[in-house]
Amino acid sequence: MKKERVAVIGSGNWGSAITRIMANNVREHGNLFERDIRMWVFEEIVNNRKLTELINEKHENVKYLPGYKIPDNVRAIPDLIETVQGATILVFVVPHQFVLKVCEQLKGKISSDVKAISLIKGFHASESGLKPITHVISEYLNINVSSLSGANIAHEIAEEKFSETTIGYKNVKDGELFKILFETKYFRVGIVDDVVGVELCGALKNVVAVGAGMVDGLKMGDNTKAAIIRIGLLEMKKFIQTFYSGIRDETFFQSCGIADVITSCYGGRNRKVAEAFVLSKKSFEELESELLNGQKLQGTLTAKEIYQVIKRENLENEFPLFTTIYRIAYDGLAPERLVKDIV
Ligand code: NAD
Ligand code: 13P
Repeated sequence: MKKERVAVIGSGNWGSAITRIMANNVREHGNLFERDIRMWVFEEIVNNRKLTELINEKHENVKYLPGYKIPDNVRAIPDLIETVQGATILVFVVPHQFVLKVCEQLKGKISSDVKAISLIKGFHASESGLKPITHVISEYLNINVSSLSGANIAHEIAEEKFSETTIGYKNVKDGELFKILFETKYFRVGIVDDVVGVELCGALKNVVAVGAGMVDGLKMGDNTKAAIIRIGLLEMKKFIQTFYSGIRDETFFQSCGIADVITSCYGGRNRKVAEAFVLSKKSFEELESELLNGQKLQGTLTAKEIYQVIKRENLENEFPLFTTIYRIAYDGLAPERLVKDIV
């Protein structure tokens, strides 16, 4: 049987943490996978050195996941096309705003029997509306795409603290293969027949986490945050089931649903930056570059992208939390209105 060869497209905080897991798993399951993994790195200069060179020399992503070794069967590569050459599995893990450019570069260069999985939390937004990222990858590259999303704060997984995740598959064989690629004793994988439900939970929880960070900035306490989590989960479910078909109710109770909303509302970057937004009155753009050292904020951009659809469809009253978070982030609405405008 031909072995699977894995290429990872992305190498940020999550990209690096999940690549550590895959690098161990491909060695453990050498009957199924080739030993070496190529990881595409968006090249940049760190301490006067190329980041790819630093990763390959130190076996550590010193910028995006410092302090955790990346096994030596991973090679960082700055050239996207070279990274995917010969790969039979593509793992997409770039911030959502960059995925289209990646797909444009890969178009026509990927064989149709390649399998892909997206770990990206976001939508693709264009004039014609919102598209799940898995659909964009699938349409550009003409391949099957699964999704993986869950309560997965990257540094906690790098520390090997117990957590769960969810894989959404269309083809159960792909779901089972990806489970082998990602699962460890401390990182438990559930698989569900719902690619879009899994990935869109991950996209929308980032918006709820922005709301939770605003609550923290306002020092409103845990009961208020719990209310934002509850209302947020309901708006996530309503949004996804309004605009996409075939979404399962159970998906919202998997790690990708309720669990990811909770962890992100307590420990994520969106929460952190939204709290600072309320306390400092600086813009999200300024705070992203001041606080995240190159890591990207996904929730504010997604709030803007989904609001375009909510407004176009005249659904502000159906999505008061999403609408209010957007207005606070972009329209100068006072953060105190967060709770006033949703009841
Ligand atoms: P990150 O935010 O830590 O890092 C940003 C990455 O974007 C870096 O690798 C950087 O080199 C790259 N980049 C910058 N400019 C670019 C460009 N023009 N083109 C392509 N790449 C560019 O990345 P991350 O945390 O790995 O996030 C990737 C996805 O994973 C996101 O959708 C995020 O929501 C999701 N995710 C993150 C976490 C987490 O805890 N960090 C957990 C689960 C899911
Ligand atoms: P943040 O991007 O808000 O840190 O969320 C990380 C995440 O997706 C945890 O599951």
